This record gives sequence, structure tokens and C-alpha cells, in this order.
Amino acid sequence: MQPMIIILKEGTDSSQGKSQIISNISACQAVAEAIRTTLGPRGMDKLIVDNRGKATISNDGATILKLLEIIHPAARTLVDIAKSQDAEVGDGTTSVVLLTVEILKNTKTFIEDGMHPTIIIRAIRKATALATKKVKEIAVYVKSDDAKEHRALLEKCAQTTLSSKLIARQREFFSKMVVDAVLMLDELLPLNMIGIKKVTGGSLEESRIVDGVAFKKTFSYAGFEMQHKKFLKPKIALLNIELELKAERDNAEIRLDNVAEYQKIVDAEWSILYDKLEKLHAAGVNVVLSKLPIGDVATQYFADRDMFCAGRVQEDDLKRTQKACGGAIITTVENLNEQSQQVMGTCEIFEESQIGSERYNFFTGCPKAKTATMILRGGAEQFIDEVERSLHDAIMIVRRAVKNDSIVAGGGAIEMALSRTLRDYSRTVPGKEQLIIAAYAKAFEVIPRQLCENAGFDATNILNKLRQKHAENHMWFGVDIMHEDVSDNFTAAVWEPAVVKINAITAASEAACLILSVDETIKVPKSSAEPSNAAKAMNMA
Ligand code: ADP
Ligand code: MG
Repeated sequence: MQPMIIILKEGTDSSQGKSQIISNISACQAVAEAIRTTLGPRGMDKLIVDNRGKATISNDGATILKLLEIIHPAARTLVDIAKSQDAEVGDGTTSVVLLTVEILKNTKTFIEDGMHPTIIIRAIRKATALATKKVKEIAVYVKSDDAKEHRALLEKCAQTTLSSKLIARQREFFSKMVVDAVLMLDELLPLNMIGIKKVTGGSLEESRIVDGVAFKKTFSYAGFEMQHKKFLKPKIALLNIELELKAERDNAEIRLDNVAEYQKIVDAEWSILYDKLEKLHAAGVNVVLSKLPIGDVATQYFADRDMFCAGRVQEDDLKRTQKACGGAIITTVENLNEQSQQVMGTCEIFEESQIGSERYNFFTGCPKAKTATMILRGGAEQFIDEVERSLHDAIMIVRRAVKNDSIVAGGGAIEMALSRTLRDYSRTVPGKEQLIIAAYAKAFEVIPRQLCENAGFDATNILNKLRQKHAENHMWFGVDIMHEDVSDNFTAAVWEPAVVKINAITAASEAACLILSVDETIKVPKSSAEPSNAAKAMNMA
């Protein structure tokens, strides 16, 4: 008799083979169903309530998938590619998931028929290389010599991104703002130099952009209202020092046996604080910002000397101020004097002003780094949150387009063009590969089809028209959302940067191959040190 060999511990769940691949594909299909309807200008939004009761309204594939807390191991791959698309190019997160799932769905029949996954994967890789090559080939390079033309290009790319969002109707307004913000940055276009601040109340059109740093007025003590609120070319000190009396008292335990000694300690505490304040004043500082609290004594002291102060400034705001205005964040004022200019920042104008019901500190005309702050207005909090996410997509797209000015037409046009090219190519290869490449080519049609379905159009009809146009070499024909028809989306200025599509195609294919190559999932049971549920139930623990 054969001896029984046990290699996995008891309770390990493993499933493998063909059925495992098919079940993974089905799980991915279920995920795609969740976000299918959000695609495109006529896509719907999702309202997701998390376990703490926080509601989020979003149209962004990556955001929705993140919030869904998917536990299926294979389906989590989709969450990861959506995230990576979001991080890499910012937009196209729904498209990438739909494309992956469609590739999987179309290849599912081959798996069911017993074709080996490696053959499928090889064919997909080949087709992907061809597709990305084709995108590069047909992408239109728009010269950036003409500043005006370049700006128009960027605005159109931003508008295409925004047209599928909640703020689609204000897309002209916001695309200008996004392009302004990105063009205010320096060459490397650092994302963290664009601050986005949200102030509830007011209308969307009251949102504005500030050429510099802005942040909400911090908590302040009595005396603050007497401070100067506007300076021209101020000296700005950025501190990581607490200017409050309680600090020293909290730091140590002291045992005393008479009142005189107590008084000495109180006096010492005051003189330490005054010493710091005097150093700041003597150095000619006008604006004091600190990450740590600034107490009432200090606030009053600054007020008496025509200085401005803000304590508890958030770290990223302080860092952005430092990068923009120069200087350094200092932890001691010991060596501060009028000569120590390099540790102090400056800007053209500092002022505090009112936005809606909130007060903001503005630093404009910053000499060092180029930075911009968007101040968003709008009704509900969830609404502004979604506006912020939408603008993030648009900012990323504009950054991409600045770096790389080749574009393709959206609205399914580029997908149809790729589908046609690959279908034509598939006819030239023999054997099984032909079938797989044709299935892959068909997968691209999911984007125009879903755009139609979400808009309530007859998808079959529109797709037939599109296939016919593309067969006649009108390669920029896509869905016309306005007129339930097809149109040349290049002239209609539905533009997307080519890199977005290239990234989406490679990411989708890689994810599909990954899922196809997994034929076994092994789930190890929780450590046996923990009592099992059954044991708990039987009170054996
Ligand atoms: P994603 O998360 O993939 O960016 P979106 O909901 O933003 O998903 O939808 C993007 C799709 O909508 C793209 O295929 C884009 O080409 C298309 N699209 C955007 N604006 C238009 C428009 N005005 N007409 C037709 N299609 C559009
Ligand atoms: Mg989008």
C-alpha cells in the first residue's frame, strides 16, 4: 500500500486547476459589474458607506474599489491595477479594470475548452506589444512652441477627464484652473506643490486659485485680533518650537517646600519664553508660523509689536510655505539675529482674508519654489471631496500632457482603432493564436459599448457604425455622447494623452496574464494557537 504523505496542515483549503482559473475570472467579472456603470460622461456615481458610517460619493474606479474592501485574492489584483493606474497616470482607472475583465472574459472559453494558459498568455503578450506600438504610431504630436496652442491642448485634455465627473458642467472653468495650477509649477511639476483646500459653502464658481500658499487660519488666542494682518515683503520665521507657558511645566516634575522657590520657577518659565520672543522680535521677524502651539502670552506679545503669528500650522502647509518662501524650519531661536536671513523666508505679500465663513492666510509672490493653491467652494462635504478627486485626475492628466504632448482621441475611438488593427493582424497568424488575438481585439470594444450603455444608447447599432467607419480608415471615430451617434472625436476635441492609454493597455494585459497564470490557491488556516470558532462555541477554550 502507498504510504499517505501529508504536506499541508489540517484544514488547509486548496483548490486548483482549470476550475480555479475559471472561478477567479468569475470573481473579477463580479468586481467589474460594480464599477461598469460609472464609465464615461454619462456614467453614474456610487455612494459607498463604510463601516464607520462615512459616506463617499465617487465616480473614480480606484476610489470605489479601494472602499469596497474586496477580499477575494484574485479580484484584489484588479484593485491593485486600478491603484497603480491612479498613481502612474491619474486617470483611466475604470477603463483599465473593464479592459482586464473583458480580456479575461473573452479568453475564458479557451480555458474551458482545455487550452493551456501559457499559450493564451503568450498570445496576449504579443498582441499587447502590437497594440502599444499602434498607439504610439497613430498618436498625434502637438507642437508646444506656440504657448497659446499648447495651453488649448492642455485644457482640452483636462476637459475630457472632467467631462465624466460630477463637475462636468463646470469643466471649462475648472480645466482653466487646473492648467493654471500646473503651469505655475516649475519644470519637475511636483504634485505636492499644488495644495487643494476645501471650504464648504458658496458656489462652485467661487472656487479660485492662488499663486502661492494658502491655508486656513489656525486656532488663536486673545490678542490675535490686534495683530497686523497684512505685510509686504515680510520676514517669515518657520518654527518647530512651542511658544506656550505650559510646556516647561509639563516636561518635568519638581518637588518644592516653600512658596519663594515656586515663584522662582514661575519666573524662570516666563523668562525662558520671553527670551525666545525677544530673539524673534530682535531678528526683525514679521510673521511667525509654528507647527506647535503659540500661547496667549506670545500672541499678545506679537500683537504689541506689530507681528503676526499662527500656531499649530499643519506640517504639509508649513513645508510648502518653506519650499515656496525659502528659509528653514528651525527648532531653536538661540542663534537667530538680524543677519540670519537664510533661515527666514519671504514673499511679496502676506495677508489674511475671509473666504466664506473661514479665514485664510495667503502667501503670494513666493520667490523660491513655484506653487499654487486651489480653494474649492461648494455645498456638501462629500461633494467637495469628489470635486477634489476629480481635479486630482485632471491635474495628473495635464502634468502628463505637459511632459509628453502626444494625444489620441477618446470616447472609444482609440479602442476601436486598436481593435481593428489587431483583428486584421490576427487573420495573418495561423493556429490557436489567431483565435486568442481576435478575442483580445474584441475586448477593446468594451469601452465604446459601455459608454453607449451608460448613456442609454443602442450599443449594437453604434458599434456597427463604428466598425464600419474604422473599416474605412476613419480612425478617430468614436461615440458621440451628445447626439446618440458616432463622430470624429479628434475634431470634436475629446482628447486624452497617449500615455494614459499605453499604460492602461499594458496594465490590463499584465493583470489578465497574472490571473490566467494562477491555477492554485492555497489558504492556510489560522494558527492553531488561536482557539477555533468551533472550540469557542463549545466553551473549550
Ligand atoms: P476612467 O476612470 O477610466 O477615466 P471615466 O468615467 O473618466 O473613466 O470615463 C472615461 C471615458 O470616457 C474615456 O474612454 C473617455 O474617452 C470617455 N469620454 C470622456 N469625455 C467624453 C466625451 N465628451 N464624449 C465621449 N466620450 C468621452
Ligand atoms: Mg476619467
